[in-house]
Amino acid sequence: MRPIDMLSAYIIAGVGSLLGAVMMLIARQAEPSQRAPLNLCLYGFVILGVGLAHNAFTDTTVRWPILFGATASLVGTALIARGLGWMVSARPPRFGALPSVAVLAGLVIAAWPLPPRGFGIVFHAIFLLFAVNLAYATRHALLRPRSAAERAVGVICALYAATWAQTLWYAIDYRGPELRHLMYMPEPLLTVFAVTHALMPLAVGALVLNLANAQLGARLSRLASTDELTGLLTRRALHERAPQWHAQVRARGHTPALLLVDVDHFKNINDSHGHDCGDAVLRAVSGRMRGHLRSDALIARWGGEEFLVLLDATHCSDAAAAAERLRAAVGDAPFAIDALRVPVTASLGLAAWTDDAQFARALAAADAALYAAKRGGRNRVVIADASAPDEALSATAAASPETP
Ligand code: GH3
Ligand code: MG
Ligand code: MG
Repeated sequence: MRPIDMLSAYIIAGVGSLLGAVMMLIARQAEPSQRAPLNLCLYGFVILGVGLAHNAFTDTTVRWPILFGATASLVGTALIARGLGWMVSARPPRFGALPSVAVLAGLVIAAWPLPPRGFGIVFHAIFLLFAVNLAYATRHALLRPRSAAERAVGVICALYAATWAQTLWYAIDYRGPELRHLMYMPEPLLTVFAVTHALMPLAVGALVLNLANAQLGARLSRLASTDELTGLLTRRALHERAPQWHAQVRARGHTPALLLVDVDHFKNINDSHGHDCGDAVLRAVSGRMRGHLRSDALIARWGGEEFLVLLDATHCSDAAAAAERLRAAVGDAPFAIDALRVPVTASLGLAAWTDDAQFARALAAADAALYAAKRGGRNRVVIADASAPDEALSATAAASPETP
């Protein structure tokens, strides 16, 4: 294999870093919520790029560009690492993080008067320390990644630490003439290392872009599946999750049931106390219902003041009891909204959902039962007759009289 000229490798890596900076500018546009960590990566890529690429323009017979390149590499890589860590952990870097990089950069500068190989050994040791710290800080990206992009971050950080351990070992072991570029491994390893590190900024830049995209995707899917006002599932999310939920309940040998809940005379609450109070009531009603449901129940905001609950019941009577508990949770005590005490009741229609393919039929049955609850005086639970959902409605778990 033809050995690479190390100076060219530095310059290629520097230009790659500057291209990485351009990628960060693009990523900032695509995902503004990640602006702060992407800015850290952007500054890091610029510092790293300038630190490496300036070798193309400086005199190769003097030594100071090596010190400048080494310090800029450490600071630039540290900023990129902090930005990546921030994106992966969703937590801003701790206060102590950047001063510790300043200490490491100070150590690089303090080691400068040493002979070139002595400086090289200190340089590799400091980078190893830094890379191990980075691999440790991002370990959950490797052990418990939330996306393929996160796993790639974890793998790259671990490999990065391993390469610095290897270069330190070669620096200590080296017996030969002084080398200006401070890389002491033999060929062909040196060329492989140089090419890998030269391509690394581009690979990391693409990775950060990918990470930003993955997080944008996760945020959009969260937005699409969460109702903004109540924090409950949206109708679309419930539709998506219902088949799997149904299969799990059936696999346990339980009875899946569908419960439609509609707040009674909700328009009056808006008319009497205003739309904001109405919103607060919807939030509070949702909170109370969620608090009275088991964690395996799915609950969605089905329409304006209407909710759909999927109940996992051991028997039909359990579903009826759960529905009655929900009715009481909403209707038995008024809601405290600012200085007001707002009495609220709800009507509920319950239907068994036996056949996976018959969601629409079960929903129609629950809707008919809800309608019957409204007609029957509101603030009550009506259970649909599974055999004839449109007509007969069997048991009526009665409740208190209608609210005015
Ligand atoms: P019923 O007992 O028959 O269900 O009577 P209702 O007044 O609850 O039903 P109706 O369908 O007549 O009115 C529902 C009202 O809910 C009308 C609509 O303005 C209001 N609404 C729908 N979505 C929201 C919302 O997000 N916030 C607020 N504050 N009101 C909403
Ligand atoms: Mg209503
Ligand atoms: Mg309604």
